[in-house]
Amino acid sequence: MRKVIVVGGGLGGIGAAVSLAAAGFRVELYEKNAHLGGKLNLLARDGFLFDLGPSILTMPEVFERLFARAGKRMADYVSIRELRPHWRNFFEDGRVIDLYPGAEETVAKNEGLTARDGEQLARFLEYSRGLYEATARGYFDKGIDTFWGMVKFHGLKAFSEFDVLATVDKGVRKRVDNPYLRDILNFFIKYVGSSPYDAPAVLNLMPYVQSRFGLWYVDGGLFNLARGLARLAADAGVAVFTGAEVVKLAARGGAIEAAVLADGSRREADVFVSNMEVIPAYARLLEENRAFLARYDRFEPACSGLVLHLGVDQEYPQLAHHNFFFSRDPRRHFATVFREKRLPEDPTIYLVAPARTDRTQARPGCENIKILPHIPYLQDAPFAREEYLALRTRVLEKLERMGLSDLRRHIIVEDMWTPEDIRDRYYSNRGAIYGVVSDKWKNFGLKAPKRSEKYGNLFFAGGSVNPGGGMPMALLSGQQAADMIAGGAA
Ligand SMILES: Cc1cc2nc3c(=O)[nH]c(=O)nc-3n(C[C@H](O)[C@H](O)[C@H](O)COP(=O)(O)OP(=O)(O)OC[C@H]3O[C@@H](n4cnc5c(N)ncnc54)[C@H](O)[C@@H]3O)c2cc1C
Repeated sequence: MRKVIVVGGGLGGIGAAVSLAAAGFRVELYEKNAHLGGKLNLLARDGFLFDLGPSILTMPEVFERLFARAGKRMADYVSIRELRPHWRNFFEDGRVIDLYPGAEETVAKNEGLTARDGEQLARFLEYSRGLYEATARGYFDKGIDTFWGMVKFHGLKAFSEFDVLATVDKGVRKRVDNPYLRDILNFFIKYVGSSPYDAPAVLNLMPYVQSRFGLWYVDGGLFNLARGLARLAADAGVAVFTGAEVVKLAARGGAIEAAVLADGSRREADVFVSNMEVIPAYARLLEENRAFLARYDRFEPACSGLVLHLGVDQEYPQLAHHNFFFSRDPRRHFATVFREKRLPEDPTIYLVAPARTDRTQARPGCENIKILPHIPYLQDAPFAREEYLALRTRVLEKLERMGLSDLRRHIIVEDMWTPEDIRDRYYSNRGAIYGVVSDKWKNFGLKAPKRSEKYGNLFFAGGSVNPGGGMPMALLSGQQAADMIAGGAA
């Protein structure tokens, strides 16, 4: 029986490990942290539960397919429920818009949106559906990995099918006039930590994906998804080692021979899958030189975030489960974070209040609130602690101004994660949250290929390879890497 070692137990690593075990490989998975799930992580403090990483589950069928590969039913491991509305959007002029899956429902449930807004939104979702269906055929279903692979598969049709000449913002602006809806549609790009002014228009597939496949909550908190996947890995026969950091991949010629653990022990295998991101893995585990690493420069990290976890001693009934508080000037916000690489003055803020749906998440009469403004990935000259704290103050002032009265006075539990914390905990490249940035000019929205270009038996899974970051895509990348291996690529 051929043996595979998986380095890292995030969603990419789990997707690969379970798929390979189900395909008859002997699989060992080594994870440096104490839990499986990677950025799916949990903080429990003083009666409050905080999902430290992801809080929005989309495309649950990608997860269901992984369970099915191992002959299991996801419903036996994880309980999920759909949320309505999908998001509540707050604007600085006091306007509030709830986003529902369909255009008709969104217009019907929001005073002030017109029939014309509804028609434009419906037409936009049709455009979005076209982008999704074109992308699904090759990129999602066949795991095509490279620009030339895409051109070969789609032919010249690719230019129109993927709206190649436009950015996300141009695709939105061309079809939708309402300025609030434009901001909302542009902000779907948050799922991949990029800017709508730089990301290729094909990323406009995301509103259709959310509308069609739903937006879900995992009962008891998102960390229960990690727990369910850990159980699945065990049931599928994956040998899991937590608290086990891989510090080196020992190579001979064009192949990897063994993973070396922090305790010095050597674990040999036929094939290796790294859920450590491509650039850190080449730099740290394989000590590749700068000339080799330069070929990955175009795979710039996606953004990071300043993540605040607040337990507050009152409820804020005006919040939905998921909320966005928009910048006065979103274009400026994106330029600051993605081009100038500075901390934003007035960021768009994502705020999740899961106790709105699930009272087990906070003490009675309280809220557990996670706040996430996107900020640049770690720069060569790091931001000072005082700069992060000043941003924290700006964010909380903005939320108070936009209706969360006296928020700061009601904080009874507080925890803050900086990009340094994210980098150190998960070894993500420069503290990126979603792997590689989607940028029309730098990489056409593609990530690194899943098969190593240097070592024949080394593969990658997770946010730094195609199809990229966000939970379903990271998991899918692992399944795709496994299919390449099982299909004879190594
Ligand atoms: C604050 C935050 C909010 C987010 N919100 C959402 C959301 O709402 N919805 C969504 O879909 N996505 C969201 N994301 C993104 C999502 O979490 C990621 O895209 C996805 O979980 C990444 O999975 P991965 O497998 O690529 O990487 P990771 O989860 O980072 O897993 C990599 C694993 O490898 C381990 N590892 C690395 N190097 C080694 C080594 N040398 N030896 C052993 N182990 C190693 C790490 O410890 C880690 O466990 C969010 C992320 C964050 C941080």
